[in-house]
Amino acid sequence: MSSRQVLSHYDWLVVGAGLVGLCTALHLARRKLRVCVIEQMSQVTNASTVSGAGIRFFDPDPVVSAQVAESHGFYSELGLAGDFRPCPSYYCFGAAAAEGVLDGAGARGLQVLSRAQLQARRPHIEWKAVDYAVEDEHAGFRDPLLTWHALRSACERLGVTFRFGHPVLALEQSAGARHLLTQAGRYVAHGVIFATGYWTPSLLERLGLPVAVRNRTITVHRLAGHNLSHLPFVVEHDSGFHARPTACGEILFGIPQPDWDVAPNHLPDRADAHLNKALAHLQRFAPLPLSFSEVRTTRSADAFASLAPEAQTALPAHTHVFAFGEGAAFKYAPARTLAYINSILGS
Ligand SMILES: Cc1cc2nc3c(=O)[nH]c(=O)nc-3n(C[C@H](O)[C@H](O)[C@H](O)COP(=O)(O)OP(=O)(O)OC[C@H]3O[C@@H](n4cnc5c(N)ncnc54)[C@H](O)[C@@H]3O)c2cc1C
Repeated sequence: MSSRQVLSHYDWLVVGAGLVGLCTALHLARRKLRVCVIEQMSQVTNASTVSGAGIRFFDPDPVVSAQVAESHGFYSELGLAGDFRPCPSYYCFGAAAAEGVLDGAGARGLQVLSRAQLQARRPHIEWKAVDYAVEDEHAGFRDPLLTWHALRSACERLGVTFRFGHPVLALEQSAGARHLLTQAGRYVAHGVIFATGYWTPSLLERLGLPVAVRNRTITVHRLAGHNLSHLPFVVEHDSGFHARPTACGEILFGIPQPDWDVAPNHLPDRADAHLNKALAHLQRFAPLPLSFSEVRTTRSADAFASLAPEAQTALPAHTHVFAFGEGAAFKYAPARTLAYINSILGS
């Protein structure tokens, strides 16, 4: 073990100050545990700070819907109730894909609209590609940066320590303790949680840990110069296409790129192909001569614990990977991190 200076002892070290890391730290601090968040960047720009921060309460999976509602309550408790901007959402299906899902949505008290009803409800949009839609009147979005700062402040009020500009370089273990090494020194704790988003696969590999995570790329397109204020939150179930307003007043739209298992620095640039595909989809709803202020590719990561149980059990004791994602972690990160912590520490 190298002899780098020991900076401090904690109960838990959380690596990564994205939404997942901050929620995790807050839940741990509420249990009166001593927590330190270690973040590689000095100025944080990650999936969480550029997120569309959209919240749809309807999801075909009722468990996810319940987690979204719980997380919404959590954000409101943080004093962010007024930050929520309503934007009705339409979760759209072709006739074939709709089978089964629509009954479930109806049973949960949601309005299912036929194409004709949809067209009457939202006449400014061209709905011809859609057969049915589940209407989620209570959907909306937040300002992701405001949320990030509110979470960080809540953590600090409960005594969480933050170390920015400290990339984690190595993990070592001794009896009962885990040691994380950064350039600045050694952090020691009972347990370590990696909430490192898109960086997780390459970081785990570098640390010699099993890699049970896949990368996912989301290409974000931001539109300027057009008034699309009539566009609701649209999700096409079949293609994955989604479009919605953002906190800065632009329209965010795109199609999540397929997952693939590559290191971040080997990611092929598919921005153009995806821009054209996403644009074609958007044109079906809002036919306009469109121009782009900015095209940006951002990345998040998904842990597939259930797909790789052997990899999960091969992690050292008290070491956990919280790379949630599945393309929509913002809306349920508070509930998911809490459920996970309860499963580790007991409710
Ligand atoms: C463009 C876009 C739009 C989205 N829109 C929505 C939406 O509308 N609704 C929704 O619910 N979800 C949305 N999502 C998904 C959601 O925002 C992300 O899944 C979520 O923010 C991921 O959070 P995270 O904390 O896991 O990762 P991140 O926010 O990426 O945070 C990981 C952190 O770990 C740090 N880190 C990595 N390696 C190290 C290391 N070695 N040492 C120290 N620190 C390290 C990184 O610097 C980073 O700050 C969107 C995502 C994107 C990219």
